[in-house]
Amino acid sequence: MDALSNSLAAADIATTMHPYTNLRQHEQTGPLIISRGDGIRVYDERGKEYIEGLAGLWSVAVGFSEKRLADAAYQQMLKLPYYHTFSSKAHEPSIRLAEKLVEMTPENLTRVFFTSSGSEANDTIVKMMWFMNNALGRPKKKKFLARTKGYHGITVASGSLTGLPINHRDFDLPAIPVRHLTCPHFYRFGMEGEDEAAFTARLLAELEAVIAEEGADTIAAFIGEPLMAAGGVLPPPVGYWEGVEKICRANDIMLIADEVICGFGRLGTPFGCQKFSFTPDIMTLSKQITSSYMPLAAVMFSEAIYQAIADNTATIGNFGHGFTASGHPVATAVGLENLAIFEERDLIGNAARLEASFQAGIRSFADHPLVGEARGTGLIGAVELVADKATKRPFAKVGRAGTIAGGIGHEEGLIFRAIGDQLALCPPMISTEDDVKEIMTRMGRTLERLTGAVA
Ligand code: PLP
Repeated sequence: MDALSNSLAAADIATTMHPYTNLRQHEQTGPLIISRGDGIRVYDERGKEYIEGLAGLWSVAVGFSEKRLADAAYQQMLKLPYYHTFSSKAHEPSIRLAEKLVEMTPENLTRVFFTSSGSEANDTIVKMMWFMNNALGRPKKKKFLARTKGYHGITVASGSLTGLPINHRDFDLPAIPVRHLTCPHFYRFGMEGEDEAAFTARLLAELEAVIAEEGADTIAAFIGEPLMAAGGVLPPPVGYWEGVEKICRANDIMLIADEVICGFGRLGTPFGCQKFSFTPDIMTLSKQITSSYMPLAAVMFSEAIYQAIADNTATIGNFGHGFTASGHPVATAVGLENLAIFEERDLIGNAARLEASFQAGIRSFADHPLVGEARGTGLIGAVELVADKATKRPFAKVGRAGTIAGGIGHEEGLIFRAIGDQLALCPPMISTEDDVKEIMTRMGRTLERLTGAVA
């Protein structure tokens, strides 16, 4: 076993360029090779057990051993392993899943375009907006509004919408016209003497000022995650989304909810926009759509958008956009089965029921000397580590404490995500009260040991 794992690790180091990895460091440390999963747990090749406290990448809702999804994939592969959806071709799984998504999402979202990843879905939205506004005779209406610390993917357009420096630096991004507005995180971006309501008012005034400066006739859409996840699990301040929606409507700016993480019950409501009381014109879905057993994403959008685009295809002859795997039959069959499990086991209700104990667990770390803020909603949360609690001063070398915490977490049998010095938890939707207790116990032990380790 050890010889095998050593040779696997050596082959990995010799051949693979890992995403989101310090490659020089990886050459020294090698990979953590995960070899199997069972429920909310995964096991490395030495047999060590870990609770997957981030559900993979915020995505494995039904856990790591759901045989029904394996079976759905197998049956679909036997029947029709692949077919495309170009040029009016269709197959049953993608039609049925599109129907299901239209039924589940807010009423105004009547149309679906499938892609394989969240990034592709957001790139598709950018192109849809450009195509639509050209079709409507508004060729200037092409800019996007996004937020600092927002995450929308890493392809050229979606990576431009993302508002994290590491996704722009040395990649020559942003490469499309986008303005990033202030991150709606009160703890970090609220000003001295400002309360949460005043913070919201300031952000909304900024949005209005940017629209006035750029001209509403040049702005196609505003994109945001209902709760910013990859930026550090940042719930918006009270009244923020209602205000953003009102301003977008008043200025004829499309509102895009990127629900790649918030969608399918993560916040305790079916979709994040429902938690924060707004209705988007467009929604991005992925991750929990198949519990990540297969790559799949969907753009949901309104009838008005569809009609404008459809008219233009009649004029110019085609909607010249699509992916080989758009609506892939195996991915959509797995998505359908996954959503059937969501309903049968009431996983959205489960997240809502676990919210109280999960959030109490997260907030129980607020008194820890290294924790500046403990936050979250639904079944997602984070603690933000700081060098000085009173002044909120971050560590001088951002990410060092987070990396150390991640290592201790592994030793304690808990995988979470260290986003700089923010430690994020987002466990599978099948978790139980006992699982939440165990996650918090392991997190507590990690934080206890961290105090000595970062000194
Ligand atoms: N949008 C959000 C909100 C995300 O969290 C992510 C990925 O984490 C993406 C888009 C990009 O998805 P993908 O990694 O599938 O391209």
